[in-house]
Amino acid sequence: MVAIGECGLDFYRNIASPEQQAFAFSAQLELAAELSMPLFLHCRDAHDRFISLLTPWLPSLPGAVVHCFTGTRDELEACLHAGLYVGITGWVCDERRGVALRELMPLIPADRLLLETDAPYLLPRDLRPRPTSRRNEPCFLPHIVQQVAGLRGEDSHALAKQCDRNARRLFRLEESVAEQGITQSF
Ligand SMILES: [Zn+2]
Repeated sequence: MVAIGECGLDFYRNIASPEQQAFAFSAQLELAAELSMPLFLHCRDAHDRFISLLTPWLPSLPGAVVHCFTGTRDELEACLHAGLYVGITGWVCDERRGVALRELMPLIPADRLLLETDAPYLLPRDLRPRPTSRRNEPCFLPHIVQQVAGLRGEDSHALAKQCDRNARRLFRLEESVAEQGITQSF
């Protein structure tokens, strides 16, 4: 186990009430601080409450990523100001829902960007040929890397390496296996 999570607030789905979510999130923040572990965070339609619950804990936390970021420019800037890493998924590949997010790609500092699939969810909509199953898989990550690299005007291999370094820094993982993995996927 390398992180606490994923945890956070989802006022879009509201599977639990906002108050129950805030209670659980606060307990998880406290646990991460107590164990000095990074956090894997989820926030959907809950930015203000998310930042206000998170902020008091920031000095006690070794790091955190707001995964599957789909917020606005202001929300992105608040997350960066809080020192968070920003996780981007194949949401950015969606020709309708992903448009606003695409414009934010150049604004994320290289050392704060993480790329992820959110498998089995969020199959990238521009994947060709389309998989017969609707299930997203970790093996589609290189596609997301290429799309994000294009939006940032960067080389996809260099971006993959950078994001791998970021993940290893945040989650405090070993370096050596990574280089092999990247060389094989590209
Ligand atoms: Zn999530």
